[in-house]
Amino acid sequence: MPEKLQLLRDLQDIDLKKLEVDQQRQKGQNEKETLHSEVARLQDMVDSLANDISALEAEKKELKMAFSQEQQNIERSESRLPQIKTQKEYVAVLKEIDTAKKLSKELDTQISAKDEALAGLNNDKAEKDAELEDLSSQAKARCAEIDERLAVFEAQLAEMKSQRETLLKELPTSLRKRYDLLLSRRGGLAVVEARSGACLGCNMHLPPQLFNSLLVAEDIQACPHCSRLLFVDDKA
Ligand SMILES: [Zn+2]
Repeated sequence: MPEKLQLLRDLQDIDLKKLEVDQQRQKGQNEKETLHSEVARLQDMVDSLANDISALEAEKKELKMAFSQEQQNIERSESRLPQIKTQKEYVAVLKEIDTAKKLSKELDTQISAKDEALAGLNNDKAEKDAELEDLSSQAKARCAEIDERLAVFEAQLAEMKSQRETLLKELPTSLRKRYDLLLSRRGGLAVVEARSGACLGCNMHLPPQLFNSLLVAEDIQACPHCSRLLFVDDKA
């Protein structure tokens, strides 16, 4: 086999491994992103519940202020009763008291409704808080595992990059460009085996004289169908 072809085969081996490690690395990064977005989604839910709770608390506070205002009105009106001289005025004040009591009762009902709604929201929030805490710690542990693997992948990729550069230096520029072009256009597979008269890159039959010439050739041959560079495994 021509020496250049051996170099190309070595290069292809490295590039296939590189592709695999790249995919693994991408998978790890994707998993991390998914975990982060799940945590962020839950955090958003917790934040939104906290907002709803403070809005309800503000509404409840206003209702309570209105309620105590009415209570004061009632007390003030009731304290005036003993000093009242006329029947007409007495009836008017009693009517004031009655109106204020009705309003108080209405406000009290509204406050109870807010309390009920708040209790529900606080429950929901406590549940989501616990979920968030669980998910955060799980995500943190998993991300630490992934980061360890990513560091290994980075080291492997750096090693492959330097091996690749060493091999590339030994190839003539034209062949290097041809290889890189095939690699990018043919899904990372530029150098393939020819076996039983077929190209294993595209599975098409090769012209018999081309296949035969591969067995003895000194030149590098390409598949006429997919343009990939061909080699014959000596052991096969
Ligand atoms: Zn082919």
